[in-house]
Amino acid sequence: MSNDEQPLALFGGTFDPVHRAHIECARAVSRALSGCPVAMLPNAVPPHRPAPGASAEHRLAMLELACEPWPELRVDTRELQREGPSRTRDTLVELRAEHPRRPLCFILGSDSLAELDRWYHWREFPELCHLVVVPRPGAPQAPAAVLHAFPETDARELCTRAAGRRLMLDGPLLDCSATAIRDELSRQGHSPAVSPPVLDYIHRHSLYNTGESH
Ligand code: ATP
Repeated sequence: MSNDEQPLALFGGTFDPVHRAHIECARAVSRALSGCPVAMLPNAVPPHRPAPGASAEHRLAMLELACEPWPELRVDTRELQREGPSRTRDTLVELRAEHPRRPLCFILGSDSLAELDRWYHWREFPELCHLVVVPRPGAPQAPAAVLHAFPETDARELCTRAAGRRLMLDGPLLDCSATAIRDELSRQGHSPAVSPPVLDYIHRHSLYNTGESH
């Protein structure tokens, strides 16, 4: 497969902070899609949620530390460089213009799939990308309109078309969330779901109230 035929997987998130499930999910998608690269896309001002706990600069630095051991993962800072809120649709339009025929595979947890019909211009997504869905414990059922817009397929077909299909992965099934980790960090100063270099960064910069004595 030449580089431009190989799928490019995209993983958007707040990464506040990046945790074990983010990294394990991204690596599992790469393995499922013949070792394709995964671009991690930290967002600026997320349109769907309250402002993040750590600044964009810190979130980016933690993400770079967490991805460093894994050559298949790279960090793409385009959403942090763009003015205004990060809209996945704008990012997908930009990436599609850069890669006219390449399979673009947008990764999301099943909790995010359940809310996709509230995302900005989501109806354009099937023209722009595939979806790769990673299960998340306790996620609600996805809306029928979303499932219908992205017919389910297997990894082989995903690699032969540019966009418009949905791959459902069976795992990894990891019960961790950035919200619970921020709470853990602020209460006890550490969390097993954060990698040692990221935890060290958090301590050095006293993020998430870890500057308090525990
Ligand atoms: P929060 O606790 O604030 O909801 P988060 O842990 O979901 O944060 P985000 O950066 O908002 O982290 O998530 C980015 C993407 O990662 C989303 O598509 C989300 O569904 C997915 N994701 C996060 N945690 C998991 C998990 N444990 N399993 C599967 N997908 C996950």
